[in-house]
Amino acid sequence: MSNNKIGWCFNNTYSKLPDKFSTKINPVPVKAPQLVILNENLSKELNLNFSENSKEELSEIFSGNKLPEGSSSLAQAYAGHQFGHFTILGDGRATLMGEHTLDNKRFDIQFKGSGQTPFSRNGDGRAALGPMLREYIISEAMNALRIPTTRSLAVVKTGEEVIREERLQGAILTRVASSHIRVGTFQYFTATQDEKNLKTLFDYTIERHYPNIKNSKNQGTDLLEVLMEKQINLVLNWMRVGFVHGVMNTDNMAVSGETIDYGPCAFMNAYDPKTVFSSIDHMGRYSYSNQPIIAKWNLARFAECLLPFIHSDKDEAIKTATEIINNFEILYEKKWINMMRDKLGLFGEDKEDEVLILNLLDWMFRNKADYTNTFIFLMGEKISNEKIYEDSEFLNWKNKWHDRLKLNKNSKEKYLKLMRSVNPLVIPRNHHVEKALEHANKDDLQPMVKLLNVLNQPYVYEKNTVDYQDPPPVSDEKYVTFCGT
Ligand code: AMP
Ligand code: MG
Repeated sequence: MSNNKIGWCFNNTYSKLPDKFSTKINPVPVKAPQLVILNENLSKELNLNFSENSKEELSEIFSGNKLPEGSSSLAQAYAGHQFGHFTILGDGRATLMGEHTLDNKRFDIQFKGSGQTPFSRNGDGRAALGPMLREYIISEAMNALRIPTTRSLAVVKTGEEVIREERLQGAILTRVASSHIRVGTFQYFTATQDEKNLKTLFDYTIERHYPNIKNSKNQGTDLLEVLMEKQINLVLNWMRVGFVHGVMNTDNMAVSGETIDYGPCAFMNAYDPKTVFSSIDHMGRYSYSNQPIIAKWNLARFAECLLPFIHSDKDEAIKTATEIINNFEILYEKKWINMMRDKLGLFGEDKEDEVLILNLLDWMFRNKADYTNTFIFLMGEKISNEKIYEDSEFLNWKNKWHDRLKLNKNSKEKYLKLMRSVNPLVIPRNHHVEKALEHANKDDLQPMVKLLNVLNQPYVYEKNTVDYQDPPPVSDEKYVTFCGT
């Protein structure tokens, strides 16, 4: 452990795991690092104080050029199913600086875009400024939406170029996560038939994330069940706000239950279950409505890794694991209806609720109604394009909704309070994010800072909230995201 003026309190455990888990490697130094943004709120939450550091020092720190005392830098090994195909991967452009600890909590501090590692395959190990700032904006927005997520502490420009379709400014993001253990980390040891290290990872994961199941009768089934619950809750949160992750490969599913890896993700505007933004997702594998199905598929891959810990007899283990996984739909559906009830301010249960909810979604789909703004409208707030809600079919539906609200005998205040707690007034809309990034690329950070301030309080009106509520102009409806970031 180390203490210093900044307040880093490293207590690294991953670096002490056997060699197969990672390769000890330092970030590749960069030419002329320049701090772009530092997350003051997150610094405070982590009890880190950067106020006494000059901009030059911060640039050195967050580029990885100057590693703090107590860090122990490494690239993690993992595998993953990418679009259904199994591959051995690993941190190809990231290095874990170490684990900062605070009040019994442990935070991975990781550089993304920090140069080549033994896992880089053909990649350059680098990242471009736009995508790193985009991850910063969206991950911080997700956190403010109260959705479990990795966080973003800082972004620096490297002073070097990266070559993608064009020449871009290079950048490094400092990512904070409760860990970077992925379903794919388990798959790595299963695929290499390394039972000893698989058991080490299993024990390490339980110790680090789920110590409450340490003494349970069957840790294997318990870990599977607990991750299933975490992932169901996570995907439900995504569905609640219209988030499309875009690349739910098993290497991008964290066993902590946090959203991880903001590449081709984006928020849905007009409600359409088939919404996909990623340029390479031709089949819609990771579309909005497919997310729970894929979460289940990924959990089945996780279950395959856990078989040795579920039962010594493989057939028995498969039977038990299958039973658990097959519960996914029932658990998900039940929670989904409750999540949608919350969005509509409905308490308790009524047998007509599902039809009421589906009818609204169906109307939204057919009329290309904006997902976020429809719920804002239902909360009685002013919103642009209110004309669409004068449609007679919608008014009919609204009457039925009012009848259902009356069943609760609640005051308007009470149901609005529930709705306001789950329906964001603002989401990071692609056209606004893009505009902020365009300016940031030209050294003007003000639009991004203004956007971040609004996104930081998505459930209350801030001074500028209304400036960011508008759906994209028609010309921008076909927004596409790219993986090669
Ligand atoms: P992702 O799609 O971001 O989850 O990345 C999948 C894998 O590709 C991970 O193992 C990354 O480390 C690796 N990767 C992505 N971009 C690069 C890059 N520019 N250089 C090296 N490896 C990369
Ligand atoms: Mg990834």
